[in-house]
Amino acid sequence: MTQCPQCQQFVVTETSTSISSVTWLVCVMTALLGCVAGCCLIPFCSNKFKSITHRCPKCRTSITTLKKL
Ligand SMILES: [Zn+2]
Repeated sequence: MTQCPQCQQFVVTETSTSISSVTWLVCVMTALLGCVAGCCLIPFCSNKFKSITHRCPKCRTSITTLKKL
């Protein structure tokens, strides 16, 4: 539970993951390390390398974004 800064209501945030620049960075680094082609796609499949956006379910405002790494 958190208070939405936009509509001032207490809401349970919706979370969604999105591909961030970090994801791309990991992808490039993995490729540079000489892994086989498929390996560089792993970051896109793993939430570990994605940023998580918390949104207010009522007004759809993005409240906070958590970046991994
Ligand atoms: Zn709101």
